[in-house]
Amino acid sequence: MAKKQTKYQKGARGQDCKLMMVGCRNIVETVVLCHMPGWINKRIGSGVIGIATKGHDENGVDACNHCHDILDMRMPYYSTEAILHNYKNGVAWTRRDRNQRGIS
Ligand SMILES: [Zn+2]
Repeated sequence: MAKKQTKYQKGARGQDCKLMMVGCRNIVETVVLCHMPGWINKRIGSGVIGIATKGHDENGVDACNHCHDILDMRMPYYSTEAILHNYKNGVAWTRRDRNQRGIS
C-alpha cells in the first residue's frame, strides 16, 4: 500500500523546480517536495527562515530530480553556500506558489 501523501507532496507534482541550481533543466515530471536535509538543518536551523513552529513539509521545497540530488549532497562540485542560497529562496518561492494555488 502506498504511503499517504500530504497536500504539500501532492501540490509539488507538475510544478516548476524552485531550487534552480546550475544545470537545472526544470523537468517538471521529476519535481517532488524535498525536505530540508540534515546538513542544512545543522547549518542554519529551521528557525532562521521563520519555520520553527511549522511542520516538516513547511520546510520543503519543490525541486526536480537534478536539484534534489544536489540538495542531498549526492552531486559533487556544488558549493554549500550556493545550495543554501537557492534553498532559502526556494522555500519562500514554494510557499508563495502554494498560497497562490490555495494550498495552505
Ligand atoms: Zn531543478
